[in-house]
Amino acid sequence: MASATPVQEIQEETKCPICLEYLTDPVTIHCGHNFCRVCITQHWETWTEGDYDPLCCPSCRARIQAGSLWNNCQLANIVEKIKHLDFKPGGGNLCERHDRALDLFCEEDGETVCVVCWRSPEHGSHSVLLMEQAAQKYKTKALATLQSSQPYSCTMAALLA
Ligand SMILES: [Zn+2]
Ligand SMILES: [Zn+2]
Ligand SMILES: [Zn+2]
Ligand SMILES: [Zn+2]
Repeated sequence: MASATPVQEIQEETKCPICLEYLTDPVTIHCGHNFCRVCITQHWETWTEGDYDPLCCPSCRARIQAGSLWNNCQLANIVEKIKHLDFKPGGGNLCERHDRALDLFCEEDGETVCVVCWRSPEHGSHSVLLMEQAAQKYKTKALATLQSSQPYSCTMAALLA
């Protein structure tokens, strides 16, 4: 049985159920689901009072109230990292400068690097993880964020600091 890699799993978790792209400007609604701000706003706008169906969360069908949402800055942070972990196995992932496989992830810069980049002064003092390790780490963080129905405050210390 083929199992998804941590990167693939987390990519699924950080996509918007409406547009199926990575969450852009993610917001949390009160049932705890996350959507792009634009997507959920459109969902509200296309629903009109008096429709047969009550206004529901597109994910879980919970009754929701138009306009009630929270910024989810921590999730936004994670999505940014995950985008950079969008690792496509089987090529196309060579370092432009060194022509080596981009299989490392610099946490400081939030970008994939090759082994030559890693040894360079530019990243010398940075913490660099193997792609798999980075994926596992951000997956854990993203799941913790996604599974909490509590909206986060944007002033909280950055999760990934
Ligand atoms: Zn969306
Ligand atoms: Zn929901
Ligand atoms: Zn390189
Ligand atoms: Zn770096």
